[in-house]
Amino acid sequence: MSTNCCVKSVPQSDSSFKVFPQALAVWQERLTAGLHRSLQASDQTMGHLEEEIQRQSREPQRAVLEEAAQQKADQTPPVCPVCGRRLSRVSHGHERSYQTRFGAVTIRRARGWCWRCQRWFFPADHRLGLAETGGCSPSVQEMAALAVSKLPVAEASAVIERLTGVKLPRATLDREARRQGQRAEAQRQRRDEQMSQGGGSDQLVPELRTGGAVEPFTLVIELDAWNIRERNARDWGQTEQLRQRGQAPEWWHWVYGGICFRLSQRVETAGGRSLILSRGTVMTRGGVDALKQQLWAEAMRHGLGQAQDVLVIADGAVWIWNWVADRFAPARQRLDPWHVLQHLWTVAHALYPEEEAAAAAWIAPLKEKLLASEAVAVIAELDEVLKRLRGARRAAVQTERNYLANNQERLDYHGVKERGEPGGSGAMESTCKQYQGRFHRSGQFWTQAGDEAIMCLETFWRNGRWSLLFPHVPADFDPSRN
Ligand SMILES: [Zn+2]
Repeated sequence: MSTNCCVKSVPQSDSSFKVFPQALAVWQERLTAGLHRSLQASDQTMGHLEEEIQRQSREPQRAVLEEAAQQKADQTPPVCPVCGRRLSRVSHGHERSYQTRFGAVTIRRARGWCWRCQRWFFPADHRLGLAETGGCSPSVQEMAALAVSKLPVAEASAVIERLTGVKLPRATLDREARRQGQRAEAQRQRRDEQMSQGGGSDQLVPELRTGGAVEPFTLVIELDAWNIRERNARDWGQTEQLRQRGQAPEWWHWVYGGICFRLSQRVETAGGRSLILSRGTVMTRGGVDALKQQLWAEAMRHGLGQAQDVLVIADGAVWIWNWVADRFAPARQRLDPWHVLQHLWTVAHALYPEEEAAAAAWIAPLKEKLLASEAVAVIAELDEVLKRLRGARRAAVQTERNYLANNQERLDYHGVKERGEPGGSGAMESTCKQYQGRFHRSGQFWTQAGDEAIMCLETFWRNGRWSLLFPHVPADFDPSRN
């Protein structure tokens, strides 16, 4: 064959792989035998052939990975990966094994001391992407991060083994996923800080990165919150004592979330469902301040700096509106009508504690008025109700009446449909539900450190930024397109 002469003409150099001839010969022989057995078995399907090929191909892949990675390690200059200075007291041949996609590989690395940073380094680990791991290759780091952000650890361990053949015991998988999550948190922090210091122009979504003039647009921001169940690290192992004292060893904490998108990105599907093509998502257990920092940076990425008009939709929490007025002015503010209805239901139940049908009948016309932006009429109705009430029920209704009065200017839903705007924060709510699908499984407890790390991975994934965490992933990979 004509290609053979070309192969022969390639000079032998350090970049050739010595394992090939031997590994490929063994592979061919074993695979041929395996496939023949499968061909003779009338009850075996193509699945058996796939299984056989995958199983037999692991060893040559592992062998060539080991050799190639060793070459990369050998090529790495002995300089400090942090400050770039030449390392001193360099010694060679420090072996370490790593779990890879194709099985365990062992790499011999050089180690050296950096006088400036005052610590030892293995420069090859940094070049190979092995510096921040408990012993997993970048591909396995990614598997751990992805699987654990989608599934409970025990299931994730089984799914990874079945799909890839990689065996990661639960404890290893859990540790590795958290480590990758913490790495994601650090990266998020760096990117958000860069944004807040005015240096994040390359973080803008591609359509806004042109530098030229952009058509005027509306940026929509939706906020919501939900609860997560955590077990406090302080109380580990004290479950029984706590129970005897009548305390439950669990705590519910707020998780704050926000999404932002340009209104032009909100389209209707053939089935009449609204769909947001490009959006930024933020979700954090780190409290109000963490949400503020992250959501502001995310809104900047999606055009807060260029938007002609900003619309914020949320529930009635006072801190949200204070912050919006401070940071997003002059944004239009809108209260999510579903949240408002919850408040009206509180009144309905105060009026008709045991009569669900009567409560529903009372609320129906008010709901219509609310959605028709007739907040004044709704408040007037509550004022009428207040005249008839005394005591605790009166206090309850008064609270809700004040809530509506305080938010009156946020209850304007005029022209929402005509402008193609979302009336409420339904998109945010459904995003929260999707996170809850992972973080609200029965019997699951989280710790603050653990849930923030795993939640951060999920957010990188959703935002199409997986390749920032795992540079071997193609940069154009975006799960929202699937
Ligand atoms: Zn250094």
